Amino acid sequence: MVTSSAAEVGHATLRGTPVVPGLAFGPVLLVAHEVSPAAVVAYAGHDDVESALTAYDAAAQAVAEGFTAKAARASGAATEVLTASAGLTRDKGLRQAVATRVEGGAPLLEAVHEGVAQFVDVFTAMGGLMAERATDLLDIERRLVARLVGEPEPGVVLPEAASVLVAADLAPADTAGLDPDVVLALVTEKGGATSHTAIIARQLGIPCVVGVAGAMGLEPGTSVLVDAIAGTVESGVDADAATARVEADRAARAATDSWTGPAATTDGVRVKLLANVADGESARHAAGAPVVGVGLFRTELCFLDRRDEPSVEQQAAIYGEVLDAFAGEDRYVVVRTLDAGSDKPIAFATLDDEENPALGVRGLRLSVHNPGLLERQLDGIAAAASASATETWVMAPMVATIAEAREFAEQVRARGLKAGVMVEVPSAALLADRVLEVVDFLSIGTNDLTQYTMAADRLASDLAHLTDPWQPAVLQLIAATAAAGQRAGKPVGVCGEAAADPLLAVALIGMGITSLSMAAAAVRAVGAQLSSVSSDTCRAAAEAALAAPDPMAGRDAVRAVVS
Ligand code: PEP
Ligand code: MG
Repeated sequence: MVTSSAAEVGHATLRGTPVVPGLAFGPVLLVAHEVSPAAVVAYAGHDDVESALTAYDAAAQAVAEGFTAKAARASGAATEVLTASAGLTRDKGLRQAVATRVEGGAPLLEAVHEGVAQFVDVFTAMGGLMAERATDLLDIERRLVARLVGEPEPGVVLPEAASVLVAADLAPADTAGLDPDVVLALVTEKGGATSHTAIIARQLGIPCVVGVAGAMGLEPGTSVLVDAIAGTVESGVDADAATARVEADRAARAATDSWTGPAATTDGVRVKLLANVADGESARHAAGAPVVGVGLFRTELCFLDRRDEPSVEQQAAIYGEVLDAFAGEDRYVVVRTLDAGSDKPIAFATLDDEENPALGVRGLRLSVHNPGLLERQLDGIAAAASASATETWVMAPMVATIAEAREFAEQVRARGLKAGVMVEVPSAALLADRVLEVVDFLSIGTNDLTQYTMAADRLASDLAHLTDPWQPAVLQLIAATAAAGQRAGKPVGVCGEAAADPLLAVALIGMGITSLSMAAAAVRAVGAQLSSVSSDTCRAAAEAALAAPDPMAGRDAVRAVVS
């Protein structure tokens, strides 16, 4: 929605859902997904073979360097895939295939297309892993063509100068490699507060606004002020005024950043703050935050780029990195088993062609079709746990029944580990007392609990008002689950994005939630907020939030209680 008025010529404000707080001012860098047909048509081509091949070499060099730079910033499997793509782009055989066609009189773009097609055919005929590289070749072709016609490469290109990245949407793999030093803010047209773009942006501490209608219409290179607290993207603003606002926000944030924990209410009730991590690197980073451990290790994020299931030994090494980052007295790590499927497709696990993947074979449900997958993962986790000194808890995603919880817990306990399940499906919240009879702990995934309670796709940008954990129906289920935990004397944490909202965190603690797990970047703001209130205030905040008729009223009511 553009809300500029005639009086403010050039000034326009787009609105979306703020998901990672912060302000940023910088030039727009649009993330294109396809090379525009007009640019291809307008491409003049080359007069002779030599100049065509010189242009090809320059384009291949630039594309390969892009992959290499991205690989250097990524970690684990992502680095391997990106490095392999850089090698493939520089491949002499591929260049020869293009050169032969150019020498035969073909225009360069046609020669590139046919040269790549020849390799795709060869790889496809070889089958197995090589066949899977055909997709990478097609990606390389699009990037080469973009470079040749003078357009930005499709997908996320790391900006050379600090920029505001604007995209229709971002895949988790795209977002994972972003560098917070050059990406000032993220703005996407699609996606809600609980999309994985938002989750990874929070992990990286990059201000982010999602569901911004019209964002892709922003002029590349023009400076915009992103206010990821209010959820606005303003163009045509005075540069000095915008810079002053960004500086003021940075100063306020620095004050919160000096909070060092441990988290406790003013009357001395301790609150466990934990980190959400994706791999060894993010765990080592999180270990520097004032947290007592990891409340959610999303193991599937280690495997986004993997085509084949890693062996038990490889898995143990990957999980061990996270456990080792949290070695020490009273620290622990909650490892979540693969949550593949739906918005997190994993090549070796996800079922193809599901009609409705969010309600399909996702998370723990995958183990029904492929029981070995879960068993091998549990073996990998157990091997990592026995090789490390860190206390290891294991939980399953997408649990809907008591039988699922019981069976999972038996498998985890058989390996000597503490067993829990996530509460993401309303049925698990409604049965919390009975689920707690068969597990050691619960962890509420508010992102999916909200999606399934409100019947609203967490990725749908136009449903952001429903995919809001402040919805009273969601809060009722959280409160009921927390109360069951108190009755059973077992821990019930929150590890969805709701835990990262300082105001909501106060209400959650008031409901009886025993731990809050969030991106490391969000911990200090939550800890500072909790340390400024008493446990009576937390309880009053919980009551106010639960009594409110809608999210906005809930936020206002809790703000009034807290201030
Ligand atoms: C959740 O659903 O709240 C959760 C923590 O799991 P994920 O976001 O990874 O689906
Ligand atoms: Mg979930």
